[in-house]
Parts: sequence; structure tokens; C-alpha cells
Amino acid sequence: MLCRATLGLLLLTFVSPAERRVAITIDDLPVAQSGRNACEFSRLQDLTKRLLEPFRVGRVPLTGFVVAGNCAALSTEHKRGVLRLWTGAGAELGNHTYSHPGLNTTPIDKYERDVLRADAALKQILGADRIRYFRSPMLHTGADRTTKERLERFLVEHGYQQAPVTFDNSDWMFAYVYADARGRADAKLARRVRDAYVPYMESIVEFFEKRAVEVAGRDIAQILLMHANRLNAEMTPKLLTMLKPAATVSSRSKRPSRTMPIACPTSTPARADSRGYTAGR
Ligand SMILES: [Zn+2]
Repeated sequence: MLCRATLGLLLLTFVSPAERRVAITIDDLPVAQSGRNACEFSRLQDLTKRLLEPFRVGRVPLTGFVVAGNCAALSTEHKRGVLRLWTGAGAELGNHTYSHPGLNTTPIDKYERDVLRADAALKQILGADRIRYFRSPMLHTGADRTTKERLERFLVEHGYQQAPVTFDNSDWMFAYVYADARGRADAKLARRVRDAYVPYMESIVEFFEKRAVEVAGRDIAQILLMHANRLNAEMTPKLLTMLKPAATVSSRSKRPSRTMPIACPTSTPARADSRGYTAGR
């Protein structure tokens, strides 16, 4: 194992950064942390356009995961209008449940009904025959083997593939502090969050790229998780620059790729927080 890990680290040295491959995924559409009138149609439209602009212009492939019951007060037409901004920017949309339940605290049969409710709602809103990707809220894919296997079977039966995450992070926590700072007109704190955010995300990328080599013995195609929020709407151009090799590779193609590199459908192996890196979630 030691030899394998060492070989992997040597190989990492020779891998060109231009070969980095990252699938970018954004959760909790139409908008995460939907308080403070965030679901008001024109506000939501503005935030969505700003968030998507760098992906649209750069033709960067993107998958968005919709919480079908989010922004319940929006009319179907308005919700369709916002989601079409995503598909118009080249994004593929996936199922992120109807009410965002956590599988670790929800009976599996109730969870499955929530997934199917979202499936029906999304197909109706999008006019789609099939939605192929599913992501579990909080990345909970089952607290024990029986639940994991049942969820996997259930998803396969309904034509879904689970979308795991390899660049797990706490962007939502930064976004929460940012929204709070803006709400209180605390410009100093808002600036601190903006300044800290991209370096933090870069540390996530560096950590998990090294971890991939330690575990798999080679570089792997990675999957980044972000959330649909104001912080990402403002910071995505800098995030894409930080991920430049991936964004550059993606932007070379004439059309956004519809292929999302899916790794093994398990829960996230590790996560990062402000105190360091801890296993499990
Ligand atoms: Zn979520």
C-alpha cells in the first residue's frame, strides 16, 4: 500500500494541471436558504442569471439539483421560467427530493415517496420524460448497509443514478454568514467572507486531490458541490478561475458536455470544516 501511495504521489507531480477534470454541481435550486424574500420572482431571476452567467459564457458544464418543493409560493410558470434559465445555460437538472429530508432521520419509505413526488413535479415543470441524476440531501445515502442498498435499488428501479460528491465543502456556511452580514449591512464582515471564500475552496480542492491519490493511487475526475446562493452568484467567476484547468478544458468544447463523471455511489468519504478535516458526515 505504501508503494502504491508513493507511486501515486510521484505521478501527481507529473500530471499537468490542465488535465484536472471537475464536474460542477449546484444544489438546492431554485435557491438555497430561501428566507428573506429570496423566492420573490424578480429577485430569484436576477440571482439565477448572475449565478449562471459565467457558466453560460464559458460553456462550462453544470448539473443543478432541484428541491422541487422549494419556493412553494412561486407559480408553476415562474418556477418553470427560473429552471429554464438553468437549462438555457446548458445545465442538466437532477432530483434533490421534494422537501429536502435527511435519510438518517427519515424512514426510508417516507423518503422514497418524497423522491417520487419530486420526480413527478420536475417532469411536469420541465416537460421531461426522464430525470437521470439524484442527489441525497446532506449527502445522506443511508446510515446502514440495508438502507443504502434499498435506496440504491429504489433509484435504479426509477431510472436514477446517484450523484456523489468528491469536493465536499461548507460553502453553505459561508453563504449563511454572508447573507446575515448583508442583511445587517455589515460591510466589513461581508468583505471578510468574500475574501476568505475562494482560498477556502482552493484548500478543499487541494486536500481532496491529494486524498484521491492517497486512496485511489491516481488522479480522479472530481465532483464539486456548491449551492445556489448569493455568495456563489458573486464569487463564481473567481471560483472558476481558481479551477481554471477544468474550466479551460470544458470551455474548449463547442457544446457543454452532457456527461457527468460519476464515481461510486457512496456517501462522502470525508469533509472539511474550519478546524481541519474529519471523516464521515
Ligand atoms: Zn441540499
